[in-house]
Amino acid sequence: MTKYLRGVRWPLWTATATSLGILVTHSLDFLSQPPTYGSATSTPDPSLRAHSPSWTEAQGGRRPRLVICGSGWVARSLISLLDTRLCEVMVISERNHFLYTPLLPASCVGSVEHRSIVSPVREVLANRIRWDRRKWWRSGQPSRLSFLHARVDDIDPRQKRIYCSSAHTGARLQVDYDVAVLAVGSSNDDCGMPGVSEHCHFLKAADDARAIRRAVTLALEHAAEPFCTPQERSDLLHFCVVGAGPAGTEFAAELHDFLSEDAHRLYPAELLEDVRISVIQSGRMVLNSYDRRIAEHATEKFQRDGIQLLLNCRVVDVQPHQLTVLDKDTQQRRQVPYGVCVWTTGVAMQPLARRLAQRIGPDIQSNHHALIVDSHLAVLGDPSRSLYAAGDCSTLRMPEVYSHARELFEEADEDGDGRIQYYEFAHLLRSVRDRFPQLREHAPEMELRLRAARDTVTRDNFTEWLRDIDAHTTSLPATAQVAHQQGKYLAGLLNRRFECWPHPLDETDPSVCPAFVWHNLGATAYIGGETSVMEVPYLQPVYGVYVYWLWYGYSLLHQFSWRSRFLVAGDFIKTRLLGRDTSMF
Ligand SMILES: Cc1cc2nc3c(=O)[nH]c(=O)nc-3n(C[C@H](O)[C@H](O)[C@H](O)COP(=O)(O)OP(=O)(O)OC[C@H]3O[C@@H](n4cnc5c(N)ncnc54)[C@H](O)[C@@H]3O)c2cc1C
Repeated sequence: MTKYLRGVRWPLWTATATSLGILVTHSLDFLSQPPTYGSATSTPDPSLRAHSPSWTEAQGGRRPRLVICGSGWVARSLISLLDTRLCEVMVISERNHFLYTPLLPASCVGSVEHRSIVSPVREVLANRIRWDRRKWWRSGQPSRLSFLHARVDDIDPRQKRIYCSSAHTGARLQVDYDVAVLAVGSSNDDCGMPGVSEHCHFLKAADDARAIRRAVTLALEHAAEPFCTPQERSDLLHFCVVGAGPAGTEFAAELHDFLSEDAHRLYPAELLEDVRISVIQSGRMVLNSYDRRIAEHATEKFQRDGIQLLLNCRVVDVQPHQLTVLDKDTQQRRQVPYGVCVWTTGVAMQPLARRLAQRIGPDIQSNHHALIVDSHLAVLGDPSRSLYAAGDCSTLRMPEVYSHARELFEEADEDGDGRIQYYEFAHLLRSVRDRFPQLREHAPEMELRLRAARDTVTRDNFTEWLRDIDAHTTSLPATAQVAHQQGKYLAGLLNRRFECWPHPLDETDPSVCPAFVWHNLGATAYIGGETSVMEVPYLQPVYGVYVYWLWYGYSLLHQFSWRSRFLVAGDFIKTRLLGRDTSMF
């Protein structure tokens, strides 16, 4: 018995210590539990409810209030790196979860479940508060992070006021801010065509993916009815994807996997003879924003898989169960009946961003697709620099570099020999990279050119290079990668700003705060049959099964919570061992 007790002594001690630890942590949690973040009170306008001063304000220890509009990629990266001792954070979003969008196409056919790729905002905030308590418990400053489930309708930058409507009652709410970050993403682009919103599925949110999954299963079940005529069956089993960018291509690939792997197993073989997937694309290849070799590879793979490609074609009319497609080469129109149509032609400006742009004025906010921000992501036209925008709802304004060619050349030519040597070029890059962030982005390419020109460049060639840079400096792509990097950048900038609060920080001074620079880490896309393509700057494009595994591993690691990591890994094993689930709810 004693021997047995001696054997279990260490585990017993460990268990007791752990339980005590948990008990103490919970007691401290309870003791430091702050009162609820400001309740709503009535204002002169009886229909408008205003946010009352927060509890820290009431205690005289006012911290700046940061309001983050949206719960997407920008918001997630910003929250994870923000110093929450320095400010009070309120997240306002019409969606109460973060969504891992790169796996959204896979969730349309059940390769992963919808719930696996979403993380509730409250869970992320609660984890952050718990983490902060452990990290900063000595500082005695409890973190103040809260969530308001509402749609932001309008922002008044002059009064620093946000107007929103409750997601539950529709009640009009007013929230004041010291600093606000607009991260509301983009909306679906229906190309202004009537019928798209009514008859087609968009692919942007978890709800869209759920609706698509249901529609695909319904089409299969309906077509399997013995009363279906051959024509009805053929129309029902025609799945159309409009737009072959990354989202449309990945969805078509996932659908093909599902139909060839699971539908084959579950439905009669004669039924599946009628199944067709068509991709309608206005360009000449799928994935045409990628490297040409990748686009060709993906186009050939789709053709080999039997996916019908209607290339250089445009949808000109959408009716329930029928599209009219115009062939841009022959100018001929044809009717294309469909069972399910998924519309992925791109993104449009968020109504909220458009309203704000109108409020500021078209002379400053002249872009029709996104809010123009400066190199520190502050919205142009907000003199107080309290409103930032990042991610899909914003576009970066870069200063033109070509018009400064003469001045830059003279600055670089340290020995005055009329040529820039390699070391002079490196010095120049270091000194002006904050003024012209695009130079930093194009630095590797310029270095290659410099090497090719034997480490020296003349004034004329240098001017030509700068002209090329301006020509190729486009707005950043609307990707999670850009949104994630901008969220991280804003966290750093705001931490610095809140450290000196209430004193202003001259963030436009490059020595105080460098400008935002996007680091292009490449792009991947899934093209079916456990094959992905990957484009990495300055390297050869790569494709194959190992790229798929690399991409999948990366996706797994980058989920927004540990819960999602486990669930996505579980879904992956489940799909491979047992197949996809086709039940409908
Ligand atoms: C199917 C699909 C696949 C993709 N795959 C990739 C990929 O593989 N790699 C990649 O880099 N990018 C990918 N993207 C693009 C990427 O998802 C976006 O670029 C990214 O989500 C942009 O982040 P964001 O924070 O700006 O906006 P979002 O992530 O779109 O978040 C916007 C948030 O704002 C909320 N919101 C919107 N309007 C309001 C309002 N008025 N009031 C309150 N809240 C509001 C929304 O509910 C949402 O929570 C994909 C996109 C899609 C649709």
